[in-house]
Amino acid sequence: MTTFDGLPPLRDVIQTHGLVAKKSLGQNFLLDLNLTSKIARLAGDLTKCDVLEVGPGPGGLTRGLLAEGARKVLAVEKDSRAMGPLSEISDVYPGRLEVINADALDINPLEQLTAPVRIVSNLPYNVGTELLIRWLTPPTWPPYWASLTLMFQREVANRIVAKPGNKTYGRLAILSQWRTTPRLVLELPPEAFSPPPKVHSAVVHFEALEKPRFEADAKVLERIVAAGFNQRRKMLRASLKGVKPEIEDDLRAAGIKPTDRAEQVSLEGWCALAREIAKT
Ligand code: SAM
Repeated sequence: MTTFDGLPPLRDVIQTHGLVAKKSLGQNFLLDLNLTSKIARLAGDLTKCDVLEVGPGPGGLTRGLLAEGARKVLAVEKDSRAMGPLSEISDVYPGRLEVINADALDINPLEQLTAPVRIVSNLPYNVGTELLIRWLTPPTWPPYWASLTLMFQREVANRIVAKPGNKTYGRLAILSQWRTTPRLVLELPPEAFSPPPKVHSAVVHFEALEKPRFEADAKVLERIVAAGFNQRRKMLRASLKGVKPEIEDDLRAAGIKPTDRAEQVSLEGWCALAREIAKT
């Protein structure tokens, strides 16, 4: 059977290289190259971009990214068994694929790329949220990258795009929506992966904003959001008391009722509160 890049189908690649999926590495592979090309297209025009991919595994998404014209792909993969298949892809696209055999949590590969950079990954679920928070906070946040196109468990994707008043609205929604416009662009059932995970998945595309949606100091914003949502059932005058004794005055000055709970406050409200707190 032939594929669009002349390389063997992914099922054969996995068999030839003995890449039996390891649960400990969150390995649920995408085997359909039409699907991986579709995910690459959801990231936008790649032709003038460098792409960072975390966790390429046997390279299904990597092949999609290269076929869709990425200027360069830097792929960071922890599993050394994937180095063989990835070097075969590199041979088909000379000079356009660089692979680092490392734990993505230990390095900052963004430093090696030339803007504009798009990050596109089918992330291992156990490190997905951690990497997302890292990319949304200094020093690796925009303008370091222009967009993120990431696969998550559907439940996590829903938390990222959640609006105030929703019980999934929290820290992930606020951090994501402050610096980017996140959109849930594709939902996938467990059968799309091999082996199938227990949960449904979804791809979220985050387009970076030129500047944060509302002015606020990142550290103050993070601190109050963490404090507010850690005790989400409490009124803000109680959950934020530890932040500052006169918090009720600041809440009122920011246009927030001290009796409101964290999930009732809009992103604009959280930023207004961060500005009030930073004044004194
Ligand atoms: N991108 C491939 C695909 O779509 O078929 C594989 C996706 S699989 C869900 C996650 C991949 O991330 C695996 O290849 C796994 O070995 C790799 N991985 C897991 N933890 C990692 C880490 N900390 N750093 C880099 N890669 C990691």
